[in-house]
Amino acid sequence: MEKKQFKAESKRILDLMINSIYTEKEIFLRELISNASDAIDKIYYKALTDENLSFDKNSYYIKIIPNKETRLLKIIDTGIGMSKEDLENNLGVIAESGSLAFKKENESKDGVDIIGQFGVGFYSAFMVADKVTVISKALGSEKAYKWESEGADGYTIEPCDKNSVGTEIILNIKENSEDENYDEYLEEFALKELVKKYSDFIRYPIKMDVTSKKLKEGSENEYEEKIEENTVNSMVPMWRKNKNELKKEDYEKFYSEKHYGYDKPVKYIHIAADGLVSYNAILFIPEKTPFDYYTKEYEKGLELYSRGVLIMNKCSDLLPDYFSFVKGMVDSEDLSLNISREMLQHDRQLKLIAKNIKNKVKNELLSLLKNEREKYEEFYNSFGRQLKYGIYSDFGSNKEMLQDLLLFYSSKEEKLVTLEEYVSRMPEDQKYIYYAVGQSNDRIKKLPQTELVADKGYEILYFTDDVDEFAIKMLMKYKEKEFRSVSSNDLGIDTSEKDKEEKEKEKEGKEIFEFMKEVLKGKVKDVKASRRLKQHPVCFSNDGDISIEMEKILNTMPNNPNVKADKILEINMDHEIFNSLKVAFDNDKDKLSLYTNLLYNEALLIEGLPINDPVEFTNNICKIMK
Ligand code: ADP
Ligand code: MG
Repeated sequence: MEKKQFKAESKRILDLMINSIYTEKEIFLRELISNASDAIDKIYYKALTDENLSFDKNSYYIKIIPNKETRLLKIIDTGIGMSKEDLENNLGVIAESGSLAFKKENESKDGVDIIGQFGVGFYSAFMVADKVTVISKALGSEKAYKWESEGADGYTIEPCDKNSVGTEIILNIKENSEDENYDEYLEEFALKELVKKYSDFIRYPIKMDVTSKKLKEGSENEYEEKIEENTVNSMVPMWRKNKNELKKEDYEKFYSEKHYGYDKPVKYIHIAADGLVSYNAILFIPEKTPFDYYTKEYEKGLELYSRGVLIMNKCSDLLPDYFSFVKGMVDSEDLSLNISREMLQHDRQLKLIAKNIKNKVKNELLSLLKNEREKYEEFYNSFGRQLKYGIYSDFGSNKEMLQDLLLFYSSKEEKLVTLEEYVSRMPEDQKYIYYAVGQSNDRIKKLPQTELVADKGYEILYFTDDVDEFAIKMLMKYKEKEFRSVSSNDLGIDTSEKDKEEKEKEKEGKEIFEFMKEVLKGKVKDVKASRRLKQHPVCFSNDGDISIEMEKILNTMPNNPNVKADKILEINMDHEIFNSLKVAFDNDKDKLSLYTNLLYNEALLIEGLPINDPVEFTNNICKIMK
């Protein structure tokens, strides 16, 4: 028999194909099943216009038969088959796609949904097989042919026997190698998994003989092996079903079957879009943070399908980082794929879908916030931090998108509130949105700096996440209202009526504070009379952009930038300690130095900052006790 040669460049392409286009060998099964499905589709489309052809769905299927003894894996279909010429043209010429040609010829027919288009998928069989045999009988032909090849060296075609129309692909599965276990492509269970993973929604049944052990009839402990033909794939994808036919439980089942998470999602979103780009999607907003969520290991992304066939496990381009918690899948017919289907051409369609999804998720979150507050708070406790990172990153370009999704604990309401709620109930004379930063709500509540603002009756937002103040600095304003820390030097609270009186009083402290400032040189920027303290003797306020809390956070970072906030030591002149300061100033300057250092350290402690010399500090306290 004459052996026909691949053209020289085809040889090289074949080699390339087999070894470098696909990263995963297992996808050969997806490719062969997709081809089988296309072949059945072709009969179906022909039947639409050919009166002599009828299409009875039940007689069309794909069957997978592994045999460990012979190391043969068969993939059989009842599709349109291939004539001698087809075998020659479609399997003998690399990058020739009979399917693409068919699609073009039948473009006018509604819903032509054929998968193939590149004319390379078939050759992926050589990634797992030493030899590939194709036995095929074309529709309307009396004769069947056998195509056979061992890869780059060429192929043979000869007549053979085959009763029914269709194609049988026979793979001689390779022997195991050091780094590849080919045996699994002969295992019933592993093959079933692969069908589920990639080809679950092929619309024709994919059948396999499944062996199971069953109790022998009439016996209590004797088993017999039973072989049953099962359909492995679910055929109709859930996302193609009508939303009205689906219940919450169906979505929850899908969520857990897909291993999106162990929790129950707080919200599911089912999209059937038919606009500039058509796609179906089922998205979930989880309830609980995955254990690795806030680590580098966490990978965001949605499953991406094209015409029901899985293309990518985690397509990260479909989700912005700030919504990286979203789980789910997208199926579209409009994607331009590259030949391995493993990469997408970065196209307009994908961008459109991503934009669409982003807005959908935002709107769903807003509606959850509005209508199911408790659920939203659950979600926010898990992923609120990510939203705040989202505001902070990309130079604040997403703040419009995200600001209405934020919640902060309110001093007044003693629960989480939105910025919109805060601003809507601001008294007319209140200039700023006030916030206080600390480790916990309880600690913030006790911060001396909050006294004046709270006394005015203004609401204060409590910031307990590291990222909070950074995010808010990026946000700058909400509805024209600026944010202001209660520790800020300028609180924008009008004290003019008391101004004269205060100024008079403050004169009294001037010299004392000058002296104290000298003592604390290099540690504080200023020492001054406080207008915010009511009960407490002392606190820090700060000048400039870096707050004391930000200093703390920045200094825990690996490449410690060693930034310092400009601290101002504020002294409450109405507190009895001021008398002690006065007496010391007049009689004993050493004592005043001692007091000054003590007060400075007290302020540090209140802020949760480390004191420079704890031993000296405790010694000083003892000195006073004596
Ligand atoms: P593609 O599917 O992208 O067209 P393939 O390399 O997977 O490329 O297949 C090449 C061509 O071979 C297909 O277009 C089709 O014409 C033909 N073909 C492959 N498998 C079958 C099959 N099981 N039945 C009928 N034709 C097939
Ligand atoms: Mg194909």
